[in-house]
Amino acid sequence: MHSETPIVRRQSKRIYVGNVPIGDGAPIAVQSMTNTKTTDVDATVKQIEALQRVGVDIVRVSVPTMEAAESFKLIKQRVSVPLVADIHFDYRIALQVAEYGVDCLRINPGNIGREDRIRAVVECARDKNIPIRIGINGGSLEKDIQEKYGEPTPEALVESALRHVEILDRLNFDNFKVSVKASDVFLAVQSYRLLAKQIIQPLHLGITEAGGARSGSVKSAIGLGMLLAEGIGDTLRISLAADPVEEVKVGFDILKALRIRSRGINFIACPTCSRQEFDVIGTVNALEQRLEDIITPMDVSIIGCVVNGPGEALVSDIGVTGGHNKSGFYEDGERQRERFDNDKMIDQLEAKIRARASMMDQSKRIDITQE
Ligand code: SF4
Repeated sequence: MHSETPIVRRQSKRIYVGNVPIGDGAPIAVQSMTNTKTTDVDATVKQIEALQRVGVDIVRVSVPTMEAAESFKLIKQRVSVPLVADIHFDYRIALQVAEYGVDCLRINPGNIGREDRIRAVVECARDKNIPIRIGINGGSLEKDIQEKYGEPTPEALVESALRHVEILDRLNFDNFKVSVKASDVFLAVQSYRLLAKQIIQPLHLGITEAGGARSGSVKSAIGLGMLLAEGIGDTLRISLAADPVEEVKVGFDILKALRIRSRGINFIACPTCSRQEFDVIGTVNALEQRLEDIITPMDVSIIGCVVNGPGEALVSDIGVTGGHNKSGFYEDGERQRERFDNDKMIDQLEAKIRARASMMDQSKRIDITQE
């Protein structure tokens, strides 16, 4: 029920990673990366499927050896989400995974080495319509750039990125996206701002090596939040030292908070105090877990008492306001006659949210049919 985001997106060129559009106003795609051994095909497929269950749009898989490339082939046959192969230096691996149907190559052309090898990869990508991601990381800048700037600076990251961009420009290849990641929030933000003014290709956002689940999520939300609020960014990955599934959830939460892209339930809940009439925290935690499968965008407010409950319920699709023994229930901002028993709140609310989601999905299907 909340209004659309006021954010105006930066103009960028559209590319496609498999069937997922990136740039030119497309929904900001949420990515993650597997951390299983790529040669362990079953474990990698299992992890990709877990990522798909929480809505990942694109998954990156590292392919460090030719043996891993053979495993990549088997993985690709078993999953439906577009896959990016993460490759460093070895152009033969890039050519091999291209044969196996890779959807994007994460390889820096300047690191491939000889000109004929760079050309081979770029021509192969062109023939098969495979985009490339140029990925710059503040921790692995070229030696001469490190010496020139003394330390990673926004200018240094952007100079490094533009070197690779120039190689692709020279080969008349524009089907690429770029990232300039750093673990320092200000360094990353400033680098993306600078780069955004210099190229029209989509930007892949990330605060690299951000940290563990909590601190990494906070850093990512601040850094990516600053950029996204300025309209910069076409796809993102949250880098956490945690289960990759968490990366996807945090990515969607950031987009949800900025009202850029909604997927699933946006819970609005009070922090609770002695006025609460039911267990708000327990209810929210239980429902977040139980309703992970719901992808219909919906605002649900769960508020412990009448101090803030009715106000939040007014702008929510579904709202509950704590009352003595029984709590008030709101739908579309309107108070309903029905009330929830405080001790059955979780089950009753879950049923209402599920019914509402299926009704919203149904009416969306009718709209599409009538179009
Ligand atoms: S809404 Fe009520 S229960 Fe929740 S924090 Fe505010 S006063 Fe406390």
